[in-house]
Amino acid sequence: MKSLNVELADRSYPIRIGAGLLADARQYAEVEGRRLKLVTDSNVAPLYLTHVLNALNLKEEDALVLPAGEEHKSWATVERVLDWMLGARLNRDGVLVALGGGVIGDMAGFAAAIYQRGIDFIQIPTTLLAQVDSSVGGKTGVNHPRGKNMIGAFHQPRLVLADTTALRSLPQRELLAGIAEVIKYGMLADSDFFKWLEQRLDDLLVLDTDALTKAIYRSCELKARIVAQDERESLAGGAGPRALLNLGHTFGHAIETYTGYTQWLHGEAVATGLVMAADLSARLGWMSAKDAERCTRLVARAGLPVKPPAGMTPEQFLELMGHDKKVAAGKLRLVLMRGIGLAVVSGDFDKDALQATLEHFT
Ligand code: NAD
Ligand code: ZN
Repeated sequence: MKSLNVELADRSYPIRIGAGLLADARQYAEVEGRRLKLVTDSNVAPLYLTHVLNALNLKEEDALVLPAGEEHKSWATVERVLDWMLGARLNRDGVLVALGGGVIGDMAGFAAAIYQRGIDFIQIPTTLLAQVDSSVGGKTGVNHPRGKNMIGAFHQPRLVLADTTALRSLPQRELLAGIAEVIKYGMLADSDFFKWLEQRLDDLLVLDTDALTKAIYRSCELKARIVAQDERESLAGGAGPRALLNLGHTFGHAIETYTGYTQWLHGEAVATGLVMAADLSARLGWMSAKDAERCTRLVARAGLPVKPPAGMTPEQFLELMGHDKKVAAGKLRLVLMRGIGLAVVSGDFDKDALQATLEHFT
């Protein structure tokens, strides 16, 4: 088991990572004498709910099983959670546990943030994406018909418990989508970690416990460091440290929007976005062609897409990238690289190079 602390301005919380941690959830939770409620989804419940309820000394009625899927990440579902907690007379000393992927974590976190003006919550992420990304950093919320994650709050968990064993039941595509975010951390902040990923990718893909634990640990550590510098993404008008976490995401969001959020998983779109960001960084002369090629090769080796969907044009990319929330005052800002592990946010780059990248990929 590995453990690290996320150190924030006014509090800190532990992230514990390892195989089989769920069995000892009660010990890690440190919630003696407090009432716990748990939310999960309809895919995770048949796999892990009984085990986790037993580990936490909870009964079936302490769990609420929500329908799985991004389309249920809505205000209506959060309202169900709030109604349920009120109906159970959970008071402000209660603790809400999120058992599931990023959808459950974001919704439970949001419900905890606004229930009686805020109660404690614990993240038990069961997807790789949730273990390396969504469970860390305190962003919670739901989608609105007008946009993803448009309603939400910052609310930090009091504990994150990432059990690598839970990943064994994850569909392969979901695993790879998480790997894309792991590769992102290496590319944006840590060239040694990137090198390690080049060496250990095959172990990760077969869910080797040590490799997974190390990859999740380092990803969380890098994210936590960035989040601690810019807890509410408020620095530099949104172009501060936290924006670096969006490497590959502006290209990726254009792909997700183009494909209507149904065919491509977020991580798959980000994977292609990473490759495109590396290509542009190389065209600008900010990163060597050789390093850009290493980025492409690692993403491809993971079995992730390195090309946008057929038929997407440079004009469509520009149009959709212009709608990305990272576009400030009409100026397109991108996260680019000055080398592997050296991401920078820039609105000041040669637009002809961007055009060349878009033409190269479409
Ligand atoms: P998800 O929660 O929908 O999980 C993906 C699928 O895997 C679902 O069908 C789920 O039921 C299933 N599943 C979960 N754990 C499983 C397991 N162990 N075995 C088998 N199946 C399992 O999606 P996700 O990829 O985990 O998270 C995506 C969400 O996270 C998005 O809504 C995104 O906006 C959000 N997100 C939030 C942040 C943040 O900072 N808060 C960051 C990144 C992403
Ligand atoms: Zn992402």
